[in-house]
Amino acid sequence: MELIVARGREDLVKARRGGTVALVPTMGALHEGHRSLIRQARVRADQVVVSIFVNPLQFGPNEDFSRYPRTFDADLEVCREEEVDVVFHPAAEDMYAPDRQVSVSAGEMGRVVEGAYRPGHFDGVLTVVLKLFNLVQPDLAVFGQKDAQQLALIRRMVADLDLPIEILGAPTVREPDGLALSSRNRYLSADDRRVALALSRALRAGAARLAPAEIRETARAVLDEAGPELDVDYLALVDPATFAEVSDDYEGLAVLAVAAKVGTTRLIDNVTVTLNPA
Ligand code: AMP
Repeated sequence: MELIVARGREDLVKARRGGTVALVPTMGALHEGHRSLIRQARVRADQVVVSIFVNPLQFGPNEDFSRYPRTFDADLEVCREEEVDVVFHPAAEDMYAPDRQVSVSAGEMGRVVEGAYRPGHFDGVLTVVLKLFNLVQPDLAVFGQKDAQQLALIRRMVADLDLPIEILGAPTVREPDGLALSSRNRYLSADDRRVALALSRALRAGAARLAPAEIRETARAVLDEAGPELDVDYLALVDPATFAEVSDDYEGLAVLAVAAKVGTTRLIDNVTVTLNPA
């Protein structure tokens, strides 16, 4: 089946074949992480729509919107290889009218952890995801655990706004040495890349412990060893549903999350840990 490129709602309606639809929202520069999401979508639905849209609303004024990688032709090739049915690639001016007023608020959960360093980021994410849901009208949508707070907030939006869409979370795909795949990794020099490995190393070391204080200390020590080239924004051990920091007596699943700049590139990563198991 020929891959369809849709630019707007009319194209999307024309492309519908009946049966279930899965949406995989992306910003393009597709890698193995995106491919794994697409494969999950493929096995779960009759038709797979991949959106490729670098969403201006989720970038702050001093962030990397203009230099974010844009590799549309290569992305189309990936989508063909993965037997995607429709690539939805809207123009920014079609998504956002100059006089637009209404948007989604991520609430308090959008202002903690990653949100504390990127004001307005999650409002921008939820607004574009809600628009994509309304345009594509999928039965299910697949998001990566790599962006754990984003995944948690999308689940909240679906619950709080009664959206009739099933959300699937997909595990983080990593390089053999542990580095989480990211479209931004292409900006890392060989030296940067070595420094960047401290993120996944710290998470692994932390996850090998059982008590919150130990987990935080162990992971922090690994980050500190990396030296001043690793500019850490935060290391957080949080409740996966709320992203509130967990207390020392917390039991069960938690997310150990880290964000740091290496040179001019900002990276995030996280792992799920089990705290104080009985
Ligand atoms: P992005 O294009 O970076 O906005 O990411 C699009 C989707 O791919 C999001 O749901 C991400 O969480 C997911 N994703 C990004 N990197 C990875 C990875 N290394 N493994 C799994 N999913 C990922």
